[in-house]
Amino acid sequence: MNACSIPCNLCGGAEVSILSNRSRSGKPLRTVICQACGLVWSDPRPHEARQFYEEEYRLSYKRAYSPKSKHVLRAGHVALSRFEKIEQFLSSRKAVLDVGTGGGEFAYLLQSLGHGVEGIEPNRGYADYSIREYGLTVQVGFVQEAAFVPDSFDVVTIWHVLEHTEDPGFILALLRSWLKPDGILVVEVPNVEATCQAPRSTFHEAHLYNFNVVSLRRLARKHGLHESRHLISRDGGNITMFLSRTEPLVQDRYDASIPGNCEWISRIVRRHSNVRRHLTPLPYVRVWQRLCRSFQERRETSDERSGKALLDQLYAPRLQLHSVERHEEI
Ligand SMILES: [Zn+2]
Repeated sequence: MNACSIPCNLCGGAEVSILSNRSRSGKPLRTVICQACGLVWSDPRPHEARQFYEEEYRLSYKRAYSPKSKHVLRAGHVALSRFEKIEQFLSSRKAVLDVGTGGGEFAYLLQSLGHGVEGIEPNRGYADYSIREYGLTVQVGFVQEAAFVPDSFDVVTIWHVLEHTEDPGFILALLRSWLKPDGILVVEVPNVEATCQAPRSTFHEAHLYNFNVVSLRRLARKHGLHESRHLISRDGGNITMFLSRTEPLVQDRYDASIPGNCEWISRIVRRHSNVRRHLTPLPYVRVWQRLCRSFQERRETSDERSGKALLDQLYAPRLQLHSVERHEEI
């Protein structure tokens, strides 16, 4: 049993076990797991989150950010796969907030489909690009400082952002406050139970927290959100959870310990070895997928076009099928 410098964000516990002492890049990174609930986090923090991101943002601010065609297309394909996960909630025009808009590819897809979209992105270079290139409405800054009207969004999405934040419980509570009473919050995070990546790649300096389905569900419940369902990606690497508001909001009275979760996750992380991994088809499938993607990108980006032109072409089939104006006309 070990002590930690940051109490558990889920149950408040302070008794932890060490899961790993190395990061993906081989640098020292102490990753701990709460013995009471199984939440996993970096302790001590590898960096001061604000400073870490602001430094990166300063770099991107110095020169006007403009992504390469292949990166726009890659992000465009990701945006389409994200849309497929949530299209059931978008059958009519919705007010959508995308937290961590990045280069704007996903928000632009929804906007092109006829939805009212707002975004928030702390990286000024990315945010400026998405506003300039796609005409998006994006607040520049950190989500914890953003100002949105309470109860105003039908759908809030937060793709691969929650694991980077210093207080994920607070962020979930904040997002809940911006949802309409019947709104849906879509959270996607990496799955700490995943074994699709090499064992040394499990823990990452930028990921301050790591979740499995049970700990994410419980953290959401603690902050007034109820899981309607979740998806696990085919390779097991990502969890997408669909959450709705529970009423009334009751906080801080909840016993958030999860018996057995710490042992369950610890066993998976311990047993995850290179030998086991290479006995599965996953590493070979990944190499093949990367090769295919590289050929596809070369084909699609043979000429230099603007991000907007690239995405308009990529999204065209979707727009024909799913545009809400068209849908309403019919
Ligand atoms: Zn805990």
